[in-house]
Amino acid sequence: MSNKGHKNEDHCSFCGLPRSKVSLLFSGIDGSFICDQCLEHGHNILTEELSPNNQPTSNLTKGNLIKPSEIKDYLDQYIIGQDDAKRYISVAVYNHYKRLLHQQDKQNDDIELDKSNIILVGQTGTGKTLLAQTIAKRLNVPFTIVDATVLTEAGYVGEDVESILSRLLQVADYNVEAAKCGIVFIDEIDKIARKSDNPSITRDVSGEGVQQALLKILEGTVVNVPPQGGRKHPEQKFIQVDTRNILFICGGAFDGIEKKIAQRLNTRAIGYGQSQDNSVIDRNNLLQYVTPQDLKSFGLIPELVGRLPVLTYLQPLDHQALRNILTEPKNSIIRQYKRLFEMDGIKLTFDENALNYIVDKSIEFRLGARGLRSICESIMMDAMYEMPSSKRKTLRITEEYAREKVEHTSESKFKSE
Ligand code: ADP
Repeated sequence: MSNKGHKNEDHCSFCGLPRSKVSLLFSGIDGSFICDQCLEHGHNILTEELSPNNQPTSNLTKGNLIKPSEIKDYLDQYIIGQDDAKRYISVAVYNHYKRLLHQQDKQNDDIELDKSNIILVGQTGTGKTLLAQTIAKRLNVPFTIVDATVLTEAGYVGEDVESILSRLLQVADYNVEAAKCGIVFIDEIDKIARKSDNPSITRDVSGEGVQQALLKILEGTVVNVPPQGGRKHPEQKFIQVDTRNILFICGGAFDGIEKKIAQRLNTRAIGYGQSQDNSVIDRNNLLQYVTPQDLKSFGLIPELVGRLPVLTYLQPLDHQALRNILTEPKNSIIRQYKRLFEMDGIKLTFDENALNYIVDKSIEFRLGARGLRSICESIMMDAMYEMPSSKRKTLRITEEYAREKVEHTSESKFKSE
């Protein structure tokens, strides 16, 4: 094949453009050429094809499915405690991917497997987001976090429910196939609970309406998603996203739900057909008895509860748990500081008492695990500023040192997080 045009000019062997019409033309050994534009186009295709995000299901086989116990082992490396939640989530995720496999196999059209969307109930700062995030990291699928409080019904000020999918598309680099198997974490789902038991007093823009809007997306439907997020407007092009295989994990603190659980447990204990022995109920941790019925009494509509079939809870974190969070996880806060100092050739150590002091302060300020970092930051700030330009090669954080730094920081600083 000749690559010369009628003007005897070299041409790109792919698009046919002559040398005069392109910026660069590369020659091959057999007299063929490729222009800069075709090269770039090829590069883009390659990056997309080889992206790990592009293959979440295409290389899904029964053999390479990650088993629930393997998922839990992985979660254990990053998350302290919360064993029940870890087990529930691991099974739900495993079933979710089994369901995808089941769909791929066209012969399996007799039984349809339902989606295993998850709902996590637990105080703020107990690790709900961390759980969802860690799972997504292990599975290497696109993951996004959305706050249910910013969602409103279509047509009202706020974000349409479809914006959830715009974000997922963005993190998937607009790879629709990858986004279709991603994980979405919807935080603060309790904040869209119905405010009153009577659904028809006034229009409840940010409550029941949003729950209704979420229903379809959670169950699985094809949604027209505005690629850049924001409001839909007529001249915008949409990307169609099928949400059937997206795993939704919802989280919420459900403040006060313990009362509803206690009420239910009490009535059952007194009433006819007493099934739960009241004496074995652990009154300090009522969340472990949470049922879909309690979510309904809290104000989630039954249809939404029905689409979140996997319900589990996270324990409040006690002193020991917080102490472990400081040092145990693979990327624990203390390990991170040690690494930062190590990069300046400085060996950083913490006294046991200093660590206990950090935990006590976090409990005192009622900040839970969220406060550990802000307290550590106030303790380490001066040293992080001064040490890189000093000659010292070691730094030991004692309780006195920690106390002095924390006492010199205004309390509001910790709470602003
Ligand atoms: P939630 O979503 O429940 O409000 P997060 O998952 O955002 O809480 O947790 C807040 C911070 O506290 C996270 O950055 C995480 O580092 C830490 N944390 C919370 N719970 C745990 C836990 N069980 N194990 C390890 N770290 C935790």
